[in-house]
Amino acid sequence: HITSIGQSKFRAKQLFDWFHKKLVWNYDEMSNLPIELRTQLKKLNPIVPIEIQQKLVSKIDGTTKYLFRLADGNIIESVLMKYKHGNSVCISTQVGCNMGCKFCASTVLGLERNLTTSEMLDQVYSIIKDTNQRVSNIVLMGSGEPLLNLENVIDFIYLINNEHAQNIGQRHITLSTCGLVPQIIELSKLNLQITLAISLHATNNEKREKIMPIARKYNLQNLLKSAKIYSNTTNRRISFEYALINGQNDSEQDARDLAQLLSNIMCHINLIPVNKIEECEFDSSKNAKEFCKILQSYGIETTIRRKLGEDIDAACGQLRRRYLENKG
Ligand code: SAH
Repeated sequence: HITSIGQSKFRAKQLFDWFHKKLVWNYDEMSNLPIELRTQLKKLNPIVPIEIQQKLVSKIDGTTKYLFRLADGNIIESVLMKYKHGNSVCISTQVGCNMGCKFCASTVLGLERNLTTSEMLDQVYSIIKDTNQRVSNIVLMGSGEPLLNLENVIDFIYLINNEHAQNIGQRHITLSTCGLVPQIIELSKLNLQITLAISLHATNNEKREKIMPIARKYNLQNLLKSAKIYSNTTNRRISFEYALINGQNDSEQDARDLAQLLSNIMCHINLIPVNKIEECEFDSSKNAKEFCKILQSYGIETTIRRKLGEDIDAACGQLRRRYLENKG
């Protein structure tokens, strides 16, 4: 920290402003700092931002997929999605993932390591700089399980939300988890205003265990209990994600079971027609609209996630995996 080299809090504020608000990462451009301090900082704390390795822009909807190279050579991916209500950035929280969900490309090559707080911030900052556009929403829904990197993720949330930084409202931040019960309870204690999204994908333990190994550790009953604790303490609706897989979880009965299961919890359901990946034979469901209508008939607010960036490998982790494969 800068105060440890005898600098004032005022200098710390100036630096914070350059790094997190102005997004300037070159000490030479930090015009309000004395030249000697800039020279000293260059030596003591060289800035090594993540680099854009590859960038793909969808011709259909402008969705942009970024592959970033980290200082240690690891590759991660992030996505910029453009909506009428503003730009949304989906970031990765780990290099790879070890949750093993059957339909997901991020987990195929396993987990490399957690991302640091700066590496998470850098994904957002680099995209703001690259596009020169404001970002109004953040989703922690890229590669990795955010609740396994809880400490860094929480620091990230506080920093991206900081009024002297990018000032992105907590209500505009969504964290998605495959369902780690103790961490959900821990998170609820912080009483944040972020949206908690839970990847449900099945209506009973047997079915869920088949597609999500984590379900063997934390069953649906306990998961839903923790979801209720989160929504009761924060007074926020839970967003349940449900990937519709042909013939696996998309029948009329599944829809009714799902409605029943979530009947006494304040929530919203987001249906995701599953994106097909090479490693797995699961196909996208054809019943999305029907499924959605049944849930709505029970009074549950349900939406079908619009497919974005279909021409650029937008499903979780596909681009990174393909890149690593081609590299040999
Ligand atoms: N580990 C966290 C966040 C990353 S995954 C979690 O599991 O929630 C983000 C979301 O994308 C999850 O709901 C996940 O189940 C979903 N997902 C992963 N692969 C997918 C695919 N091929 N098609 C549709 N949704 C997918």
